[in-house]
Amino acid sequence: MPDRTDRTDRTDRTVDVLVVGAGPAGLALAARVARAGAGRVEVLERDEEPGGAPRHCHHGGFGNPPLPWLQGPRYARRAVAAALDAGAALRTGVTATGWAGPLTLETTSPAGLERITARAVVLATGARERPRSARLVPGTRPAGVLTTGELQQSLHPYAHPLGHRAVLVGAEPVARHAARALHRAGTRVAAMLTEHPRGAALPGVPLLTRTTVTALHGRGRLTGVAVRHQDGRSGVIACDTIIFTGDWIPDHELARRGGITLDPGTRGPSVDPAFRTTTPGVFAVGNALHGIEPAATAAAEGAAAAPAVLAHLTGTPWPTPGPRLLPHPPLARLTPNHLTGPTTRPLLLRSTTPLTTPLIHAHQDGHPLWHHRFPTRLSPHRSLHLPPGWTTRVDMEGGPVVLSVSP
Ligand SMILES: Cc1cc2nc3c(=O)[nH]c(=O)nc-3n(C[C@H](O)[C@H](O)[C@H](O)COP(=O)(O)OP(=O)(O)OC[C@H]3O[C@@H](n4cnc5c(N)ncnc54)[C@H](O)[C@@H]3O)c2cc1C
Repeated sequence: MPDRTDRTDRTDRTVDVLVVGAGPAGLALAARVARAGAGRVEVLERDEEPGGAPRHCHHGGFGNPPLPWLQGPRYARRAVAAALDAGAALRTGVTATGWAGPLTLETTSPAGLERITARAVVLATGARERPRSARLVPGTRPAGVLTTGELQQSLHPYAHPLGHRAVLVGAEPVARHAARALHRAGTRVAAMLTEHPRGAALPGVPLLTRTTVTALHGRGRLTGVAVRHQDGRSGVIACDTIIFTGDWIPDHELARRGGITLDPGTRGPSVDPAFRTTTPGVFAVGNALHGIEPAATAAAEGAAAAPAVLAHLTGTPWPTPGPRLLPHPPLARLTPNHLTGPTTRPLLLRSTTPLTTPLIHAHQDGHPLWHHRFPTRLSPHRSLHLPPGWTTRVDMEGGPVVLSVSP
């Protein structure tokens, strides 16, 4: 309930736990802490409906393990129901826009402006694809240039007409979903292209590897995409739609505005194994931490953060950040980002290049801590889950822990 209103008509309110983002990660956390009796647990969602990205994913493959028949919207509805059953309050159409204090968020919604102070804030804002502008693709600025997220919005809630012939930039699982969605909408996929040496092909769709987009053509509507192969060959593919996919970064704007330390590798908030950021009382979970992962991973992180949120509410001191976890190229993304003690959860690791049966090492101050050869092929679009046992050997007073790979 409103506590007071100031001269700018911003209503001040207080809650116990404020979660920003009603996707799988935020909902799983809200369900756990609400069920544990954390007091007023409020989840803010800027969309009109809660559920996050799965709401727009009309294909199977959600759940843990992934179930071919479980489509995103149904998975999202289950997560929403679990949070509501546990007693969390879900508020849609409400966007957190900034910070008025270390644990005070400013929000905006059709109902007005608010300033909400919480005892714990959880950032579960998800990830976004880097659009064409962020990828510095030259050329004209025609219509028909979309990210996968924009494609999904065009297809489902608003059903905008799409073009007839599309090029997909990306050849990873999300790109395949986008290709199938285009096919269902009656748009022919002329090609999928990737700068990597391999990609996941789809029957009937040409896959161009080691290929980059060099320019977009067309005034008004897109008419073609100029591409160049690594060996110097180039050409133009005629199309009226291009979908940029697969280059995800954490939606970190709110964290950045709050002065929360970001990790240079993931570009999400730097967290310890309990999902505590370096700002006392502020947690971060899900794709907001690391870019895209399966929904079950995001939800598991939300659930796993709940004990630390509850501990914080009962006065457990916020630990001082210990050694950073530093991936050495081509390893690029590691979660968690720093240690405050050993972890019992797997560490998520990604590489920028494909690696075959990689031998991963962990060192601290020149001393080997652990190594393991993974009998698998690591693609840039899939994370390795590193076993956590070796983190008991980390010197919490020591230097950074470096993760590297050898052939
Ligand atoms: C095309 C596509 C296909 C996919 N297919 C699969 C699949 O088959 N299987 C699978 O397991 N996973 C799949 N995923 C991945 C899965 O959807 C995500 O991993 C999961 O949704 C991440 O959950 P999250 O809670 O971290 O973030 P999200 O689901 O992105 O939720 C974050 C929420 O935060 C809200 N938000 C952000 N900022 C603010 C703010 N300032 N104020 C208020 N609200 C805010 C957003 O509106 C959003 O609803 C797919 C994803 C995409 C895009």
